[in-house]
Amino acid sequence: MAAFDDPAFDDHERVVFCRDAATGLKAIIAIHSTALGPAAGGCRLWRYESGDAALHDVLRLSQGMSYKNAMAGLSFGGGKAVIIETPDFDGSEALYEKFGDFVEKLNGDYITAEDVGMSVSIMETIARRTSHVTGLPAKTGHAGGDPSPKTALGVFKGIEAAVGFKLRRDKLRGLTVAVQGVGHVGYYLCKYLFEAGAKLIVSDLDESRVQRVCEEFAATAVPLDDILCQDADVLAPCALGAILDESSIPKLKVSIVAGGANNQLQTQADGQRLAAAGILYAPDYVINGGGIINVACEYAGDVEETEVNDLVAKIGPRLIKIFEEAAASGEPTNIIADAQARKIIAAAS
Ligand code: NAD
Repeated sequence: MAAFDDPAFDDHERVVFCRDAATGLKAIIAIHSTALGPAAGGCRLWRYESGDAALHDVLRLSQGMSYKNAMAGLSFGGGKAVIIETPDFDGSEALYEKFGDFVEKLNGDYITAEDVGMSVSIMETIARRTSHVTGLPAKTGHAGGDPSPKTALGVFKGIEAAVGFKLRRDKLRGLTVAVQGVGHVGYYLCKYLFEAGAKLIVSDLDESRVQRVCEEFAATAVPLDDILCQDADVLAPCALGAILDESSIPKLKVSIVAGGANNQLQTQADGQRLAAAGILYAPDYVINGGGIINVACEYAGDVEETEVNDLVAKIGPRLIKIFEEAAASGEPTNIIADAQARKIIAAAS
């Protein structure tokens, strides 16, 4: 499929196909918009079924980054990269260095970072060839490093805001939160929730991860298929996207959906389905912006962690504005967030 014909194309500024036969690198870098600044967004390593599937994913994620960065108040546009895990993929340092060369050739129009399948050490390898990379080891007390603890902090602040708005409660103590996926983001979110006195129900494909949060944060484990229909106050999706759809939404028994996963709604209409079911949805790219805020601070230079935390804490009030506008207009929260993001980008264009 040609990039222009992909339904997720949405007027991308640039799409770069990166190939290096010697290392086996196959990657796509998508730059959706540089209206607000250089396009920032992580690099995902994934075994795609086809080149079209990789293209579609990177376009969708890159557009999402434009909206996320705009809503986080950052001087960043939206971009994303995917590295395709081919059957003979060896994840060599040479391959990641080559990817760094491709990033460098974009002269700072695209800034990369960790996404699924990446690590701080891979970012260090990429950094041998380009300075347009973040998520590098941080000095203690400064911005940088693995962004997921800050993503989790933002999600926690978002849950507090949603609980205040929907349940009229200013504390999480005694509330039950069902967390789907206890990897990087889910683990730290469980930590914050446990410390705030919330009860946790969790599921993950990886048994050892489940066991860890059960032991450390007194969580209760449930089978994978049961997590979406738990009797809880909040559902926090922290695994994969597209979990909220026509068939899953009628099974939900929560008042709030607020979690870190990207692209939680299968379609835009699912936002309306949630609203019609009386469930308050915290738009994913607004609530999970803590990681990119950390990345932006790292890229800007010597920013202290306390400053990062203050910026991440603004996610709560930002969500309240969306909830209030949705309540006043009768539109679902995802539509309100999209409109706010587009307005910010259009004003800068
Ligand atoms: P991760 O890979 O560390 O964790 C994801 C976890 O979900 C894994 O433990 C995996 O086993 C589990 N999982 C996968 N499918 C599942 C299923 N069907 N049911 C239950 N568990 C399942 O990834 P992460 O960095 O924690 O990211 C989680 C989500 O948050 C992703 O959607 C990611 O795009 C999004 N996100 C992450 C960040 C970040 O800073 N890491 C920032 C913004 C958004």
